[in-house]
Amino acid sequence: MKILIVEDQRRLGQFLKKGLSEQAYTATWVQTCAAARDALCETHYDTIILDLGLPDGDGLELLREWRRGGFNEPVLILSARDSVQDRIKGLDLGADDYLAKPFSLEELLARVRSLLRRQSAAKDTVLEHRGLRMDLLGRTVTLNGAPIDLTSREFALLEVFLHNPGRILPRTLISEKIWESHYDVDTNLLDVYMSKLRSKIEVDPAHPRFKTMRGVGYQLL
Ligand code: CA
Repeated sequence: MKILIVEDQRRLGQFLKKGLSEQAYTATWVQTCAAARDALCETHYDTIILDLGLPDGDGLELLREWRRGGFNEPVLILSARDSVQDRIKGLDLGADDYLAKPFSLEELLARVRSLLRRQSAAKDTVLEHRGLRMDLLGRTVTLNGAPIDLTSREFALLEVFLHNPGRILPRTLISEKIWESHYDVDTNLLDVYMSKLRSKIEVDPAHPRFKTMRGVGYQLL
């Protein structure tokens, strides 16, 4: 699940990115309206966390723009402006939730989960393939009923494959989905993560789970 954080305070931005990444979300952090516009044009996000006071504009204007333009990603406003009027304005413009600063990370995570749950109510939140079962909301993975302990990066990697079982996934596509910016990813890194993931889920050497297409990508069998 990809989350875009629009927040100009460096410390808070880093804190949010770290907190969300630890929950196995792929978090991208930008600090300006301009960068947020670019990020949203570039890829799809499952949720956006939006600060209002930004150096080059107002988050509410961004939100208005997105909603007019047909972007329907859930938006959680995170702002020091916390009067009832501010909240109403934000929600009227199409925000899905509003959290006042200062806030607790626990509460923010709970609200993000709730947004994702609402958004995916119609979609599957459990991915299954040949005995592998991934619960996207509970953030757990089991193999034939036994829990598998994955790091957040391994989880994100496996999620990409479980959305596309049997499909040959090009290396660039995989990198794009699990790293927030794909252009500076060392390609060897993907192989390192793949081998870690494989060591955890390919428990029976007679039954490989992945096929390596050398120089091309990987396929979940
Ligand atoms: Ca701000």
